[in-house]
Amino acid sequence: MWSYSFEIPTLLVILILLVFYFSRPRLPLKKNLLFLQMIAIETLVIIFDIAASAADNNYQSVPKWIVVNLNMFYFIGFFTWSFVMFCFSLSVTRASIVLKTYMKYILSTPFYLGIIFSLVSPFLRLIFYVDDLGYHPGILYPYIYVVGFSYALTSLFIICRFRRAIPKREFYTMVMYNNILIISLIVRIAFPTTLLMDTFVLIDIIIVYLAFENPEYFLELRSTVFNSIALREYIEENTGKMDYKVIGIVVHRYQVIREIYGAGQTDAGLNMIGKYLNQLFHKDKIFYNRKGRFVVFVDSKTDVEYACRTISRRFSQVWKSDEAELYLTAGFATMELKGTEYSVDEILGAFSRVMEKAGNSEGGEVFYISKEDVQKNKTDTQIRRYLESAIDNNTVELYIQPLVNRRGTIVGAESLARIKDFDGNIIPPGMFIPLAESSGRINEMGEQIFEKTCSFMRYLKAENLYLDWINVNLSPVQFVRTDLADRYASIARKYRVDPELIHLEITEESVVDEMFMNNQIQGMGEKGFKFVLDDYGTGYSNLSRLKTIPFINIKLDKSLVWGYDKEPDAILPNMISTFKSMGFGITAEGIENSKMEDEMKEMGCDYFQGFKYSKPIPSSEFFEMLSRR
Ligand code: C2E
Ligand code: MG
Ligand code: MG
Repeated sequence: MWSYSFEIPTLLVILILLVFYFSRPRLPLKKNLLFLQMIAIETLVIIFDIAASAADNNYQSVPKWIVVNLNMFYFIGFFTWSFVMFCFSLSVTRASIVLKTYMKYILSTPFYLGIIFSLVSPFLRLIFYVDDLGYHPGILYPYIYVVGFSYALTSLFIICRFRRAIPKREFYTMVMYNNILIISLIVRIAFPTTLLMDTFVLIDIIIVYLAFENPEYFLELRSTVFNSIALREYIEENTGKMDYKVIGIVVHRYQVIREIYGAGQTDAGLNMIGKYLNQLFHKDKIFYNRKGRFVVFVDSKTDVEYACRTISRRFSQVWKSDEAELYLTAGFATMELKGTEYSVDEILGAFSRVMEKAGNSEGGEVFYISKEDVQKNKTDTQIRRYLESAIDNNTVELYIQPLVNRRGTIVGAESLARIKDFDGNIIPPGMFIPLAESSGRINEMGEQIFEKTCSFMRYLKAENLYLDWINVNLSPVQFVRTDLADRYASIARKYRVDPELIHLEITEESVVDEMFMNNQIQGMGEKGFKFVLDDYGTGYSNLSRLKTIPFINIKLDKSLVWGYDKEPDAILPNMISTFKSMGFGITAEGIENSKMEDEMKEMGCDYFQGFKYSKPIPSSEFFEMLSRR
């Protein structure tokens, strides 16, 4: 006689879980789908278990075909359930992605065999049979334990193999889950007539639910939209097969808004926006990705401009509820994902950069994220890593390019920064200087190069070698620091280098606020530093300003030099003679051959810099070059 008194409460609890699970929005992730299958199959298994045992207990009064079929369905359910439990483990560890196809076949064979054995049991008596004395286990009955144990043990093995790929919480949960499965099988063997196993399985389901399958863990803003964890998992599972466009909607100047309205009102506002987006995109997946940013995955045929205009119109009205009244504006970004193979980090990285821009822009302009943006963001992320490491370890390298006078003698030089990737390849400054400027780390980097330059000048002096001066670049970002003069002066003092020997190169773009600029230059001038105008001809040129700032030299950008070389005109010679009459020294950059040199010499340039003389070289090589001179 079977005793199934535990099965009824088990079934009730599982039904409650199902109702809760269905009442929340869920993401169509493989893991979630398998979890749902697991609950559904377990529910069926319990129902068949109860029905089959009741039929077995009363086999005399129940038609035989019913007893047979109920048992058959129970065993089919049992094998399916073992297999789904196993697949769930696989999907949590993401092992299913790396498993070879033949491995998948091997792993699913025990399950298919189980199904076949169950189906033929009414005729061949393999797993069970029913005769005039009722239900009996068949010769292959122990096979159910073989399948149960081998799936649970294989799961354990795979989870331990992939433990580094999954969060700790999921790892421990899954270890516990499989151990409970093993215990449940042992209990089944120890107490064959008491149907306890399903109660253990229920415990397993509850553990997984509480640990990481609760839909609430993926929801945000009072459960109206999915959160950023969900966003990451969703993209991760769908990269490469996404037939979507993404629309990003960002509340303009979110941080300021939060300060003005306070956290409570702002959150209430975000809730309203979440609800509104839910109505507008009722068929689509909507995520809230922190900092006032919403992300919607829409069908790739959607007219994004139109959707953004609609949202803009809504934003022109007040967001009002019992708790809040906010006036907000929004920025937009969009990205095509159809036919792309981006990784999660690539998508989210590029997206968050552009969302940042959109969040600070005026008006409802839509920013498009192209393939190039994603690629650029990817390279930038790598370069940022090398840059951070170089600055942290003070391994930004000093390269030096000589400057020669009209007689071709090296009289000066320019310090140029270089960093290397982890394989030792040089990364050009054009790629890392803008990143250092945008992160503000140019301050440290500039200072490191300045210090290395001072150290180098001191070394030259100790070796009785001389340069009339050396140029060091000063970024506009550094230039606004009010303690710049003190810091640089104290570094020069530390190496006992006369600041007069150091010429700071600044570009025209730094010359923005004239008052501030003049003060800064005056302060640095008092410490003895001299200034050179770099890259003349690339920015907007303001001749009147040249009168007020005491530059000692103007460096003509290589584009001017090359432009004249290609197509001589009267502008450059006249400009140079004007500068000379104003008392500036002139340096021509980018001299690559004798023809360019002759042309610039003829116009009266004083100094020359370019590959004709030398490319920028490591300071040690430059030292040797000077020694040979
Ligand atoms: P820049 O200050 O105008 O430096 C001159 C650039 O022109 C150097 O590029 C140099 O290698 C290049 N150059 C010189 N002669 C020739 C030539 O004949 N042909 C060609 N094709 N190029 C020539 P580099 O070293 O790549 O530096 C690029 C820019 O990065 C620099 O332009 C400067 O603005 C910035 N930079 C480099 N180091 C530093 C630094 O330590 N601090 C700051 N703030 N900026 C730096
Ligand atoms: Mg320069
Ligand atoms: Mg330059």
